[in-house]
Amino acid sequence: MAGLRGILVRVAELIAEFREGVGDRPVVPAADPEELRAAFGGPLPAEGREPTSVIEELVAAAEPGLAATAGPRYFGFVIGGALDAATAADLLATGWDQVGFNAVTSPAAAAVEEAVGAWLKELFGLPSVASFGLVTGAQAANTVGLAAARQRVLDRAGWDVEARGLIGAPRVRVVGSEERHATIDRSLRLLGLGAGSVDAVRADANGAIHIGALAEALEREPDAPTIVCLQAGNVNTGACDDLGTACDLAHRRGAWAHVDGAFGLWAAASPSTRGLVAGIEAADSWGVDGHKWLNVPYDSGYVFVADPIAHAAAMSYTAAYLVGRGTGSVRAPGDFVPESSRRARGFATWGALRQLGRRGVADLVERCCALARRFADELGGISGVEVANEVVLNQVLVGFGDEERTGRVIEAIQRDGTAWMGGTTWRGRRLMRISVSNATTTEADVDLTVEAIRRALAAVDGR
Ligand SMILES: *Cc1c(COP(=O)(O)O)cnc(C)c1O
Repeated sequence: MAGLRGILVRVAELIAEFREGVGDRPVVPAADPEELRAAFGGPLPAEGREPTSVIEELVAAAEPGLAATAGPRYFGFVIGGALDAATAADLLATGWDQVGFNAVTSPAAAAVEEAVGAWLKELFGLPSVASFGLVTGAQAANTVGLAAARQRVLDRAGWDVEARGLIGAPRVRVVGSEERHATIDRSLRLLGLGAGSVDAVRADANGAIHIGALAEALEREPDAPTIVCLQAGNVNTGACDDLGTACDLAHRRGAWAHVDGAFGLWAAASPSTRGLVAGIEAADSWGVDGHKWLNVPYDSGYVFVADPIAHAAAMSYTAAYLVGRGTGSVRAPGDFVPESSRRARGFATWGALRQLGRRGVADLVERCCALARRFADELGGISGVEVANEVVLNQVLVGFGDEERTGRVIEAIQRDGTAWMGGTTWRGRRLMRISVSNATTTEADVDLTVEAIRRALAAVDGR
């Protein structure tokens, strides 16, 4: 087969082969960066090349450097896999080359986002009037949510930040947990509020914001325009802030409450974990990832804002009276995100939600949590191994004695190649972090990984 059809059939086979074997290949490739550089690099070719051979050359160059992050035993950071329907839908989005700006550039891309936004709000139990944007990830979602917050708290103080900028504006106070994710600080930098604007509130033993300390922080400067940054799912422990109480405190002070729920917001989608995020609907804005726990391919995240006017005022460049209406009655995706022309990212999420349904999303969340507990139970039973967090969600922190031994065990596990977990620092201690976020991970994968950890321990202890 020649031409585009031939290439696409070939690529479909290559992808299928990769994905069928992703559980068997070493989780992190042993690729030599110099070899990868040499394979891709060299001088810019003067002449073009036939597309089929371009793809063969690309695959040969990339293959040794592909990580099995989509596989069932990648437990590093918080990295999800990619569901079959979501993967295929994302390939279609590329193949169709639709522009997800508004209903003129792609009626289908605009309509699929409407459906996806409504489904997600229902899954999370967010207000049905909330506006939403499909963005690249929680970093972007936090930035958009905090931009809406900045717009609204300054508007209340009589300052139009979208027109006048921040120079000469009343100072915006940000109150956030000492355990907030680093992306919050970057969002604050991008928004001109500055990472230094954060009044950091201490967290409890498992990393959730200390409610008494939050109340005290809000008592200081009660009249300043204030944004409160809350969290569902601490990246180390999985702990969730007491959102209902925290939002209530924030609102009593006239503050805006933003929730960074990159992965933790998914707790809302299962009856068994919903209690962890009770009161979630009371917040003003929410950020969450699709590429982590929903297992949508990279990159995919969502932002929701309870007040669509603040959201669109912060993001849109169309006239205010047109905002969000797009063409006819179809919402214009471009009014709720920082991009103008953009990929039609709604298709992949639609594929994921349609494949799983409400029940399937709840199962996915419950299964990952159960596997995290299985890790904790099995590892906790090994002498010289300590589970260092309260396992409330899908995150497990593991210590192997002192810093040095822990570091050596982590290295040995990574070398072994059965599974991949990284190190982290939690409360001043060096620990290993396990995140169970992949829809294909099974009990057998956990057991194989625990065996690999036992081997690493034996190697480090010279047994
Ligand atoms: C992963 C994560 C983020 C950042 O998400 P990206 O998808 O990498 O942009 C923000 N907050 C928390 C709590 C996270 O776990």
